[in-house]
Amino acid sequence: MATVKEQNFEVLETKREHYGMIINGERTDSSSGETFTTYNPATGEAIATVAKATTEDAERAVQAARDAFDNGKWKKFPVNKRQRIMMKIAGIMRSRFNELVSLEIMDSGKSLSAAQGQVMQAIEDFEFYAGAIVGHRGSVNNVPGQFQNVAEKEPVGVCAQIIPWNYPLMMAAWKIAPAIAVGCSVVVKPASLTPLTALVLGEICVEAGVPQGVVNVIPGSGSTIGNYLVEHDQVDKVAFTGSTPIGKNIMERASQTLKRVTLELGGKSPNIVFEDADVDAAVDGSLFGIFYNTGQSCEARSRLYVHEDIYDEFMEKFVAKTKQLSLGDPSDKGTHIGAIIDDSQVKTIDEYVQSAKEEGATILAGGKPATVEGFENGHWYEPTIITDVNHEMKAVREEIFGPVVVVMKFSNEKEAIKLANDTVYGLGSALWTTDYARATRVSKAIQAGIVMVNCPFSAFPGTPFGGYKQSGFGRELCIETLDLYTETKSIISYFGSRPLNPFGL
Ligand code: NAP
Ligand code: MG
Repeated sequence: MATVKEQNFEVLETKREHYGMIINGERTDSSSGETFTTYNPATGEAIATVAKATTEDAERAVQAARDAFDNGKWKKFPVNKRQRIMMKIAGIMRSRFNELVSLEIMDSGKSLSAAQGQVMQAIEDFEFYAGAIVGHRGSVNNVPGQFQNVAEKEPVGVCAQIIPWNYPLMMAAWKIAPAIAVGCSVVVKPASLTPLTALVLGEICVEAGVPQGVVNVIPGSGSTIGNYLVEHDQVDKVAFTGSTPIGKNIMERASQTLKRVTLELGGKSPNIVFEDADVDAAVDGSLFGIFYNTGQSCEARSRLYVHEDIYDEFMEKFVAKTKQLSLGDPSDKGTHIGAIIDDSQVKTIDEYVQSAKEEGATILAGGKPATVEGFENGHWYEPTIITDVNHEMKAVREEIFGPVVVVMKFSNEKEAIKLANDTVYGLGSALWTTDYARATRVSKAIQAGIVMVNCPFSAFPGTPFGGYKQSGFGRELCIETLDLYTETKSIISYFGSRPLNPFGL
């Protein structure tokens, strides 16, 4: 195992048997000595043990973050120095790109191309926010002549950041980068199923020169550590990405201390193919829209609406290509579909598919757990297409979070918009058309935070990402995220030649 000594922090490269948490700039084990095991979803094999944070550890992490924030070292760094360190984080990540990719594949079961894209984006997030902070500033506002008003942006303080398992490194980067860019300190809780890359990122932050206590990473149970952070009176903000029910619970608990809250939650995103669409482009984009990341995406376009005039042509091509998708070794560059995160998720997906069948739906592709040669102990589900569905069905209304798409026909634009908006969610959406006026009209009518026009991709550094309705609130990945990690302080000063005496005494 290669080790490098830098800034008194021992850098450990390559996969290890055991991963400690990061508290106050040090790699440390649990106060109770407890560990948990993280598994490879593609093989079912144990990868490593991980220190399991107790509430005592969470308390230490909060205090470390609090001290780091209150002593002001990081937030008082000149912007160029914070930028330099953030660029160094990105640089170390680049130099360890393959290691991060292979850890992410191992821990989450995702395919090589998905992992490569997500690790690259995590790197770019640090680069983006290193640049973005230069332009993040307050304002000088018009007030009567002898007064001056300066509204400053100040970092909000200690932030608890709670991460899901579907994009373990990328979601950690979406949260850590903007928070530390503006001078906050963070306590990150990775998902229990995928803690490894967030832990390595925490180590990289320390190695790059982020002062002690600014970035802490504590794996542990959501219901104990997560709740502890959300309720803690020394934590100023909670940023959560995960399921809608837990998001609601967090918002309720955070209200007790009136924490600032950002919630990136679930989705059931519509994908509308109009009769004037380029059918081949729409087929390929729709395929990627649902099956990318094995459908385990908050913004997976899981409800597909196809105009009746092109329905048969579209579906023939869509079904044929779905059947060509390859499941298999996630590290193989020819693999399209990686593993499902665990067995309980396979069961959940299958229950949705079975419920649709019982309610009269037709399965055009897939429809059951898959067995993959050489990976028999992994967790797999066949890419699945369901038709003959309606909006009363559970599989159409609820987020399945797997490689399953429901497909319906529509006959006009008004109907398509109505169907698209008939959901409690509002995260992503996509539409396929060659009519620019229609693209503009429908984009404005859709109730979702993200609209993709003739395009399967939804997230680049700089583009706002987040939901309407029960998909949450607050936008990540963009400049306005910096506002969500700052408070605005309005300073009003008087420069008049005579003292002010409003009471006239
Ligand atoms: P989840 O079960 O809600 O868990 C997310 C995180 O919250 C995990 O770290 C979990 O810890 C923690 N947690 C669980 N209970 C908690 C509690 N009571 N208090 C505080 N934290 C708690 O979600 P998931 O299954 O990991 O992720 C899938 C969900 O995330 C989907 O609904 C998906 O749509 C959503 N998602 C949304 C976005 C977006 O940007 N909108 C992006 C990705 C994913 P443990 O791991 O220890 O349980
Ligand atoms: Mg794992």
